[in-house]
Amino acid sequence: MMVGEGGQHALMQPAELAHALKQEARRLGFTLAGIACPVPPTHLDVYLAWLKAGRQAGMGYLAEPRAVERRSDPHLILPECQSILVLGVPYYNPNYAGAHDLQSAHGPHGRVAAYAWGEDYHLVLPQRLEALVRFLERLTGSPVPNRWYTDTGPILERELAMQAGLGWIGKNTCLINPRHGSYFLLSEILLGIPLPPDPPQVTDQCGSCTRCIQACPTGCIRQDRTLNASRCISYLTIENKAEIPLDLRASVGDWVFGCDLCQMVCPWNKHFAHDEGDPMFAPRPGVAFPDLATELMLTPQEFNSKFKDSPVKRAKRRGYLRNTATVAGNSADQRLTHVLEHSGQDDEPLVREAAGWAMARVKPS
Ligand code: SF4
Ligand code: SF4
Repeated sequence: MMVGEGGQHALMQPAELAHALKQEARRLGFTLAGIACPVPPTHLDVYLAWLKAGRQAGMGYLAEPRAVERRSDPHLILPECQSILVLGVPYYNPNYAGAHDLQSAHGPHGRVAAYAWGEDYHLVLPQRLEALVRFLERLTGSPVPNRWYTDTGPILERELAMQAGLGWIGKNTCLINPRHGSYFLLSEILLGIPLPPDPPQVTDQCGSCTRCIQACPTGCIRQDRTLNASRCISYLTIENKAEIPLDLRASVGDWVFGCDLCQMVCPWNKHFAHDEGDPMFAPRPGVAFPDLATELMLTPQEFNSKFKDSPVKRAKRRGYLRNTATVAGNSADQRLTHVLEHSGQDDEPLVREAAGWAMARVKPS
């Protein structure tokens, strides 16, 4: 390595750049960091078949022709792309005992998926991705064409993570790292400079295990490692804007936002996932195991205040209270009768409908 004028490391070799970049990524909290080549994804056919079968449910943006085309080739996103840095930041383990200590519930309570306990990663991670690009540009001494995404881009990110050697795509459709499990949020930076790719993770380490498939309450995990989104509790309680289908409400169990079941049963998480994730995703008080009666009484102002900069806001108050009423019905706990009567008068039809359904279950006639 040579240090050029102005302190820039203008003559660093690609391997040195890659090493420095990964070190900086780890300093910024990305436990997983690897480099992939910008080649068309090998699982594109599975993805196209999934779309063709309509398994994206109400997430129509996934099937938009421009987005589909861009997923087929990273160069359609960044023509200068020569390498892709793939990153994983850990969130908290759903079994983290400290989350129970922050429980607000004295009566029946629900559960929130662990990735949503703290700050919204869409707000936290972009600054770190920007910082990584600036770091790289300081090393090269010149601007580097780039484009980054964290969950939001037209890119098959788990496939890229596999290509970058970060893990394999498990039967539960999550990226599983053999040393850390699957409680990670992924990000990618497409870069207009060549960096040496890491060896892909080619071994499927699920073996004969089928625990996730057996644990899924709605049976939505398919053989080809895709989900039938229209039956997945994560979809039904977050992206779904309509009523939860009657035949799936009991399966929602106590999940008021998202679902972690198919990851919680995975042996790779049981043995290797750490309890604590990135501090930004630490559980806020009263979020992980929310008190159903309290949540059902949330006004729009209280909802906005409680879930400011939280992923839960994605469901909006009407979706969150629809879910909460559904969970209240599943609890069959008669202590919730009064708050459900209150929710039955809510301004939102979605909440009123779910509350009416729940009332019939907590107050048997
Ligand atoms: S998130 Fe829940 S509902 Fe969706 S596949 Fe996993 S276990 Fe099934
Ligand atoms: S539970 Fe078993 S089959 Fe499912 S992802 Fe984990 S190792 Fe693979």
